[in-house]
Amino acid sequence: MKCRRCGEVAQVALPSHHTGFCPTCFLDFFRAQVARAIRRHRMFGPDERVLVAVSGGKDSLALLHVLGELGYQVEAVHIDLGIPDSSAPVRAFVEEFCRARGQVLHVVETAKDGLAIPDVKRAVRRPICSVCGKIKRHWFNRFAFEHGFAAMATGHNLDDEAARLFANTLRWDGAYLGGQGPTLPGEGLFVRKVKPLCRLTEFETAAYCFFSGITHWHAPCPYSGGASFTSHKRLLADLEHTSPGTKTAFYENFLKNGRPAFAATAKSGYGELQACAECGFPSSGEVCGVCRVRRMTAGAGQA
Ligand code: SF4
Ligand code: ZN
Repeated sequence: MKCRRCGEVAQVALPSHHTGFCPTCFLDFFRAQVARAIRRHRMFGPDERVLVAVSGGKDSLALLHVLGELGYQVEAVHIDLGIPDSSAPVRAFVEEFCRARGQVLHVVETAKDGLAIPDVKRAVRRPICSVCGKIKRHWFNRFAFEHGFAAMATGHNLDDEAARLFANTLRWDGAYLGGQGPTLPGEGLFVRKVKPLCRLTEFETAAYCFFSGITHWHAPCPYSGGASFTSHKRLLADLEHTSPGTKTAFYENFLKNGRPAFAATAKSGYGELQACAECGFPSSGEVCGVCRVRRMTAGAGQA
């Protein structure tokens, strides 16, 4: 197969686009897809400061790298969860990645907020990943807000978004179907959330890392018992294999036709939230979920 753009030997086949690219043209294609998503979904402009959540995995590192290549004002934030034998080496890896590129990196240590994940795990009865996800989202937003960033960017890709959409559709969850999308507008203490890789698959992100010389952190978190969307991703991958382009059509047509139809059932913005009595960030009750977890964790530590 030849590269669609330059005629050289193609090294990346993209059946969903009925095409293939050489490494140079693939990197151009990848950057163009990100730039298009940012423009089309009004994510941020060149004058706005963007905070990128960096876990050390390929998606977040690819996102940080490509936004820098596109000339956006990006800074990175990494959350150190305090998990023995896991958090310290990932953090050191991310620090070295950013240092080598002259990239500003901020690190939030949840232990300093009384939320070291091993302590939280001992204290709560719920699956740790849902609590950990809540803590990370809280700190991403809080850090972005307190440091004046216009937007908070995460490395969710097309596979993540299509799998989430699939799960919401199976439940006909109108509240989420009306609100799901690559840009969640900011309001009050909530910073705008954006997903600039929403047009790119996991495979394309991996290829971008490979051709850009980006090595990423591979070791899974010791608490991960398998990602919750794995079965949905597998189903979508089968459909994609039989009928290339299915994932893109499913997601893009949802944004165009499906989401507007659910607008009336979308979660009603942030209007019904109140300020958490402890941290001051929006909460559905007097004390927010993260502050309740902190209380439980402190209580379990004293017991
Ligand atoms: Fe947190 Fe679970 Fe991810 Fe580990 S696997 S970092 S506990 S969400
Ligand atoms: Zn709170």
